[in-house]
Amino acid sequence: MVDRLARQGIKVTGVSKAILGLPQIVRTWVAAGVHSIGESRIESIESLSRCELGVPLLLIRSPMLSQVDRVVAHAAISCNSEAVVLRALAAAAHCQGVRHGVLLMVELGDLREGILVADLEAMVLLTLALPSLLLVGIGTNLGCQNGVAPDQSNMSELSRLIKALEGRFGIRLEWCSGGNSANLPWLAGGGDPGRINHLRLGEALLLGREPLTRTAIPGLYTDAITLVAEVIESKCKPTRAWGTRHCTSFAKGPAAPQKQPDQPMAMRALLALGEQDADPAGLSCPGISIEGASSDHLVVSGAESALAVGDEQRFQLSYSSLLRAMTSPFVSRCFIEGPA
Ligand SMILES: *Cc1c(COP(=O)(O)O)cnc(C)c1O
Repeated sequence: MVDRLARQGIKVTGVSKAILGLPQIVRTWVAAGVHSIGESRIESIESLSRCELGVPLLLIRSPMLSQVDRVVAHAAISCNSEAVVLRALAAAAHCQGVRHGVLLMVELGDLREGILVADLEAMVLLTLALPSLLLVGIGTNLGCQNGVAPDQSNMSELSRLIKALEGRFGIRLEWCSGGNSANLPWLAGGGDPGRINHLRLGEALLLGREPLTRTAIPGLYTDAITLVAEVIESKCKPTRAWGTRHCTSFAKGPAAPQKQPDQPMAMRALLALGEQDADPAGLSCPGISIEGASSDHLVVSGAESALAVGDEQRFQLSYSSLLRAMTSPFVSRCFIEGPA
């Protein structure tokens, strides 16, 4: 991915928030030539900073006002969209005798973070006026809140904005950060990067998929990370629940009534894995269907589900499942080097 994008003049920040900055994976990315590592939590930035990776650390979420000291101490650059935060970062950087890099995030339609285009010049002016801050560039983030796709129109807008700012203030901005893994289909489809020379990639590097349609990216593995669960019950059971049915802890509403009189029996396995460990909707394995999940149990059926107690079942994970699995203290991480 790094080499592919380099041919289009684009550098990659590896975004490790879904794996909580796991050093074993982050080191692999650094060895593969990522420009920097991006994280949304200061705690992960701090632990990565102790790893001495030799690449810049980028805080990809706007700093909390209460954490600006920690941000300037450990992150080379942060993404920003609030004047009050810029002033606080500048004061903290001044106290620590450092210059903190600022990437100003621009709102281009997905309605998560970002400065409205009409307010961008004023924010640039403010950043340039704070000597302990270094304005490294502008960026945008699409796809994450409303699933807005990066396309030639919004990407050209970002290029137009950076050129306009450079002309207006007589400066040269190093980074034009076009977005995240959701930008890859646009680029692969022949999109013209224009001034865009940087992407922040998490899902593509971890799961080999682009997030908008979950399509596998050619040449990448979609099973570099798998979740393994152990079978704790395996029985032939009726396929329909019986008794009066109401809500469950995890379902949004009452279960639909099942009036069918027939009760075919089928093999079902119960796995020691639940909502506490992974988003069940994001688990997949060919031939296996997930019948239901609660905090600590996952019920599966399917052709290959003649699973015996003690057997292991592997799943591929969506981004949300991966995030939750990495956050669960009950999921252990095992690293297998080379072909598994
Ligand atoms: C999470 C995040 C990314 C990475 O997104 P992926 O879809 O995982 O590539 C990039 N930029 C920002 C600001 C993010 O929050």
